[in-house]
Amino acid sequence: EFSLAKRVSALTPSSTLAITAKANEMKAEGISVIGLGAGEPDFNTPQQIIEAAILSMREGKTKYTATGGLPALKKAIIDKFIRDQGIDYKPSEVIVTNGAKHALYTLFQVILDEEDEVIIPIPYWVSYPEQVKLAGGKSVFINGSEENQFKITPEQLKGAITDKTKAFILNSPSNPTGMIYTEEELKLLGEICVEHGIIIVSDEIYEKLVYDGHNHISIAQISPSIKEQTIIINGVSKSHSMTGWRIGYAAGNEKIIKAMTDLASHSTSNPTTPSQYGTIAAYNGTQEPVEEMRKAFEERLNTIYPKLISIPGFRCVKPQGAFYFFVNVLEAAKITGYESVDEFAKGLLEEANVAVIPGSGFGAPDYIRLSYATSLENFENALTRISSFITEKR
Ligand code: PLP
Repeated sequence: EFSLAKRVSALTPSSTLAITAKANEMKAEGISVIGLGAGEPDFNTPQQIIEAAILSMREGKTKYTATGGLPALKKAIIDKFIRDQGIDYKPSEVIVTNGAKHALYTLFQVILDEEDEVIIPIPYWVSYPEQVKLAGGKSVFINGSEENQFKITPEQLKGAITDKTKAFILNSPSNPTGMIYTEEELKLLGEICVEHGIIIVSDEIYEKLVYDGHNHISIAQISPSIKEQTIIINGVSKSHSMTGWRIGYAAGNEKIIKAMTDLASHSTSNPTTPSQYGTIAAYNGTQEPVEEMRKAFEERLNTIYPKLISIPGFRCVKPQGAFYFFVNVLEAAKITGYESVDEFAKGLLEEANVAVIPGSGFGAPDYIRLSYATSLENFENALTRISSFITEKR
């Protein structure tokens, strides 16, 4: 028997993947399961991006690139920051990575020492605490309450700071809640981080998916001093429906970006070359497909939301961005006789054949996450199944 390293024995496998695996098993047995677990847009990557990647390969651009990304891609990212956020970065302040997830992983590896603390608001994206743990750091959680749209307050942030606090993770728009911090809220949180010398890790991967007139503002655009304190994490997975291409990036402090690049030089060498060429086209070409996808999500949100909250025992703050509903189903679990929401979610899968993600993986065990990165028809069928399931059981 081989023994594994301590660092992996402490890892919690992704809850998102566990339920998806179970749902796939059921599908393989011929059961018609409706999956509401998707973490990726259900659209194909826009054609011009695919064409650009194919062309680059035909032209023989299939070799290693600079570790931190092609200069032309860094430039496209820098131009995007100027265009969308009005903030300026030098090429030495940008690293292109194998997805935003890998940008975050590399970042924590280079900023955290044993016992350094990272403040993480609940509900959180499942990978944050695991990545912090893998880097030897310690997660300190603060609770974003449903009453405050799952957002944390400046007082809560202040209360969690110790002399070991190294970083604070902000994810707006949020996975799983879809909530967006306003400019005023960001300013207050940012100023606290500046005052205490805390690195702001701003995960803006859902930037382009905002609805009903809500706007995304990067905390880095609030003031030069907050920008200096911030590492922005972003990528094209969600905005351009490019999850499988694995391109993300980080932007911020030169010394941190250099350390990340040095680490990547010994781990990945560079992000996949054809994907980098595709991403140049994604940013330098038309942004119309991005807006079309956003509109499709917005229409689904507004069609589904009223139906969702009319289900007995379901309560949901209307999301402002991303493509998830984060629903409090504690009451639904109770009236159907389940001891916990985890059990309720299991019941939904096994008896109603609807796959949802239990909130426990996001640190919020009274909730389930439903993704509307699926057709309206699919979602509406799922709601019909869920309603009958609850009616029959109560
Ligand atoms: N951050 C958040 C909040 C996410 O939901 C995701 C994807 O699910 C990522 C980062 C990672 O995106 P990628 O690695 O595909 O760029």
